Amino acid sequence: MLYINHSRAIYAMSPHNLPVAHAASGSLVRFETNDCYSGKIRTTDDLSSLVPWDVINPATGPLYVDGATAGDVLRVEIQKIEIAEQGVMSVGPGMGRLGHLIPDERTKILPIRNGHAIFNDKLSIPCKPMIGVIGTAPAQDTIPTGTPGPHGSNMDCNRITEGTVLYLPVNVDGALLAMGDLHAAMGDGEIVICGVEIPGAVTVKVDVIKNFSAPLPMLQTEDALICIASAETIDAAAQAATEHMADFLCQHLGFDIHEAGMLLSAACNLRICQMVDPLLTARMELPMWVAEAYQFKMP
Ligand code: CA
Ligand code: CA
Repeated sequence: MLYINHSRAIYAMSPHNLPVAHAASGSLVRFETNDCYSGKIRTTDDLSSLVPWDVINPATGPLYVDGATAGDVLRVEIQKIEIAEQGVMSVGPGMGRLGHLIPDERTKILPIRNGHAIFNDKLSIPCKPMIGVIGTAPAQDTIPTGTPGPHGSNMDCNRITEGTVLYLPVNVDGALLAMGDLHAAMGDGEIVICGVEIPGAVTVKVDVIKNFSAPLPMLQTEDALICIASAETIDAAAQAATEHMADFLCQHLGFDIHEAGMLLSAACNLRICQMVDPLLTARMELPMWVAEAYQFKMP
């Protein structure tokens, strides 16, 4: 298997990034990832404001996938997410959705024990490791890894877990896949701009899909197909995720817009991924039994 060390990190998704490794379509690759603070917060004395902006949100990579060319889809099967033994969280004035109420900074260290993040002496949060930042290079722009978009990146979607398959656009030759910002656990919304931030490693299988078009990014979980969209407001992100799923139903399951609308209204769930990053992210979840009824399978 190909390994990429966390020291090979980028801080922006860009067509100008030089690949740190090459892999054939169908390869397994293990990305070792630092946490979003580049490991600079280790004790409760380390405050996030002391971490320089230019080392926030490192993404390991980018990986050049042989044969991927613009217009293809990159299928990323997330086979395994390993996390370290300690996670961290930080809050402070102005940060996230409660920052106007929080008078000073605080760091919490959360030891990971038996699949739980120890929050305090009464509460242990069940770990559900997820990838905060995972994306490909945009066609032209250089976009900081803190900002999500059509190319994926900082979507902070807690459904991007072990066992799911993420579909990302290929905008440039090789796709230039990079990832980081693991969370041991994170609630929908990511209210104070952090999950349980943690270093780790992600093993993925990468495949280049030719001749498939879909409103990306899309995610396949055990029980749902999900369209993810980011925009300047959560309203606009929710609207985009909704329209993307309607488009998917019309394009791949033969619905017209009337039927698509009714099905979305009756059986699908619109949810918030995060509402704290420079663009906000929402998702529309289509139950897998809908796709199964039409014998549709993602490639
Ligand atoms: Ca994030
Ligand atoms: Ca994070």
